[in-house]
Amino acid sequence: KSGFVSIVGRPNVGKSTLMNNIVGEKIAIMSDKPQTTRNTIQAVYTDEQSQIVFLDTPGIHKPKNKLGEMMVKSAEDAFRNVDCIIFVVDESDSIGKGDSMIIENLKKTKTPKFLVINKVDKIKNKEELFEIIQMYDDLNVFEDIIPTSALKGSNVEELVNVIKRKL
Ligand code: GDP
Ligand code: MG
Repeated sequence: KSGFVSIVGRPNVGKSTLMNNIVGEKIAIMSDKPQTTRNTIQAVYTDEQSQIVFLDTPGIHKPKNKLGEMMVKSAEDAFRNVDCIIFVVDESDSIGKGDSMIIENLKKTKTPKFLVINKVDKIKNKEELFEIIQMYDDLNVFEDIIPTSALKGSNVEELVNVIKRKL
């Protein structure tokens, strides 16, 4: 199996940590593409049956200025020509402005979308996690919702399996 996966989301939610954890020791390529202004980081996950290229797209989490047009364009770039999109949020229990904007763009694409709720190691009780999952599930945007701790590596394998099933 092979394919391309975009990792998108606000700054600091743990996208890069997640990507590093996914490719881990199996890393094949980890490189900046200096030619592109977007400077997308690519990492390739490989195992016996699969080769998956992950794209960490800084364009989507560019600063607050020019938020409108530029973010929309970055979002479209990140969503086009990929097999699935991983939208990463952290464990906070509200949807911020930046998130809403990305979610609006996600709705416009037919590409399969998964939500990762990262930093679950910071969540004290299961009830809280359940409420966050419920909140995102109510949006009806994501095919699946996967809680992870990229830092500790919790549930990252399950995420990879969910992705593989889509390829
Ligand atoms: P990015 O901006 O989305 O790429 O976020 P980074 O991967 O750079 O992570 C931002 C910060 O969050 C760093 O200090 C990470 O160590 C921390 N972080 C990432 N994942 C986790 C996690 O699962 N749990 C906790 N507690 N911290 C995390
Ligand atoms: Mg990053």
